[in-house]
Parts: sequence; C-alpha cells; structure tokens
Amino acid sequence: MAGASVKVAVRVRPFSARESSRQAKCVIQMQGNTTCITNPKLPKDATKHFTFDYSYWSHTSVSEDPNFASQRRVYQDIGEEMLAHAFEGYNVCILAYGQTGAGKSYTMMGRQEPGQRGIIPQLCEDLFARIAREGSPELSFSVEVSYLEIYCERVRDLLNPKSRGGLRVREHPLLGPYVQDLSRLAVASFADIADLMDSGNKARTVAATNMNETSSRSHAVFTIVFSQRRQDPLSDLTTEKVSRISLVDLAGSERADASGAKGVRLKEGANINKSLTTLGKVISALADATSKKKKPDFIPYRDSVLTWLLKENLGGRELAHGHDRGAEPGRHYADRTKQIRCHAVIN
Ligand code: ADP
Repeated sequence: MAGASVKVAVRVRPFSARESSRQAKCVIQMQGNTTCITNPKLPKDATKHFTFDYSYWSHTSVSEDPNFASQRRVYQDIGEEMLAHAFEGYNVCILAYGQTGAGKSYTMMGRQEPGQRGIIPQLCEDLFARIAREGSPELSFSVEVSYLEIYCERVRDLLNPKSRGGLRVREHPLLGPYVQDLSRLAVASFADIADLMDSGNKARTVAATNMNETSSRSHAVFTIVFSQRRQDPLSDLTTEKVSRISLVDLAGSERADASGAKGVRLKEGANINKSLTTLGKVISALADATSKKKKPDFIPYRDSVLTWLLKENLGGRELAHGHDRGAEPGRHYADRTKQIRCHAVIN
C-alpha cells in the first residue's frame, strides 16, 4: 500500500467574538506542515514545534498565509483522498478530535453558506457525482447510511426516533463488528443523505436538551456503506466491492478530564476518557506498525465501543480475496483484502 495508513491534520480556528473582544493573543503559528506553539511567558526559543501531515491556519486577517485553509482546501486535501480510497475498496475513516468549540462540527459539517460546507457534505456530493459519471450496465452502485451516537459506552440509533440507546455490539466472523438492529437506510442522492443527517442531528439535539448538552459528551458516527457491483457480460460473473466510510465527530476532549467531577459527570468523563485513550492507543499502534512496515502486535480495539465499532475502518482486516474463493457465476462476494485508510483532524 502506498503512503501512510493514518494521517493527521491540525486546524486552528479563528478567534471567537469573545476572544477578540478580550484581545486574546494567538500563541500558535503554522509553518508548512509544522504547528508552532509559543508560551508568551517564556523566551521565544522555547517555542515548541510539532509536525503533522497538514497544519491549517484559519485566522482571516492573514488569509494570504499559504497555510490558510478554506473548507474547500481541507476537503481537497483530506476528503478527496479518502473518497478515492473508498472507490478502490478500502474502508476509510475521518475523525475530528478537539475540545468543544474548537471547530470539529465546522470542519466535518460546516455551515450552509457558500464556501462554508464541511468535509461530509462535500464528500457525499462528490460520491454521487462520481457514481453518476461511472455507473453503466456493467457497473452498478448502492449506497446505505447509518448514524449512531455513543454515550457512556451505549449505542443509540440516530436514524430511528424510537431508539432509546443500549443497542448491542456484536462481531460477525467475516464482516467484523456491527450494531445489532441499527437502521441502515438506502440513499440515492446527496439530498437523501442531507435529510437523514439533518434528522439524526435533530435527534441528537433533542436528547442534548433533555440530558444537558449530551452532544458534546457523545461520539457521533456517520457511516456510508458503499457497494460497487461489476458484472462481466461474458462470464456472467458478478463481483462486489464494499467499502465503509466512517465520519466521526468525537466527544469534546475536555470532557475526558473528570477531575473534581462526581456521579454522572464522573462516569461520563471516565467513559469519554476510555474511548479517547483507547483510540489514541489503537492509532499509535497502527502508525507504529506502518512506520516499521510490520504487522501490528496486539491492538486494543475491544477496550472501548468506539474503537471496536471502528475496527474495520481503523485497522482493516484480511479477508479471503474474492477471486481466490473461486466465485461462482452470478454469486456476489466481497472483494476486500486489507483495507485501511484513516484521517484524523485535530482542532
Ligand atoms: P465543536 O464542534 O468543536 O464544538 P464548532 O465547530 O461548533 O466546534 O465551532 C465553534 C464555532 O467556531 C462555530 O461558530 C464555528 O462556526 C466557528 N469555527 C470553527 N472553526 C472555524 C473555522 N476554521 N473558520 C471559521 N469559523 C470557525
């Protein structure tokens, strides 16, 4: 596989009105793909440098900065590559990590105004544009979506208004982990996806009001299951390639700090911490294995519901290759070998 399996981008948002009115001082600078953090109380040479795949700048006053990242640019760098891998048959995953208010939803969903749409709407639109271009009597596509929320290690279906949470996570020997009874709805256009996301987001907001802003304490996982079915007109052999695109808005990372918290808050913090720490461990084990070009040893996917569910997107798996399995004419089979692609945006 060419290139790294896990890529990381850092994006700094512009000051909020409140920060500007308080004359907040910016302590971050972007130089190429390096993020530089200066503590104003320390000498300049104490500046810390961190290198990522991308370091995005957003302060509008310096929009001529080569590191300035519009929504379009972020999508072109991150989303386009992931979509291309999904068409190749990889499972892909984009995660947004950061504190509440850091810009995760803006990066993933964005706003309706022109030029403000985030990665998800741009990726969905491109997906259907490509399907329209490439579909033919021999090559057909189908797209299904699911949308779930993980709160305190419990899974709730955001596309089923009756879902009260507590859906069971199970593992299929061939297809990997899945959520029992989770709705998976067929969609035929970007408008269908936008409608479903909208109602899912409303389901999240309703619960948030009842449960005191649950949304920043829960992980939201939007998954597009995308199948490409190719029929060979001569042999009548049908091959099917299935890819999963998971787009994840993680719980605010500040919630992971449970210091001083009691009761429900303590439990919430501990659970968020568990997911985010496990996610960190899983990603670093995978990144380490990629850099050393070796098979990863033990990966603790099962330590949190989030990583268990994302197992196929984060680490991929080895499945019998369709051709090796001697597919029979007309029989559908999964053509998935090792399929890993992941992108994290840290706001
Ligand atoms: P989070 O999802 O991490 O809680 P939001 O995405 O809601 O944070 O961002 C907080 C606010 O900052 C929103 O009003 C959002 O529109 C704005 N914002 C975030 N990132 C950017 C950016 N890169 N450019 C302009 N505005 C941004």
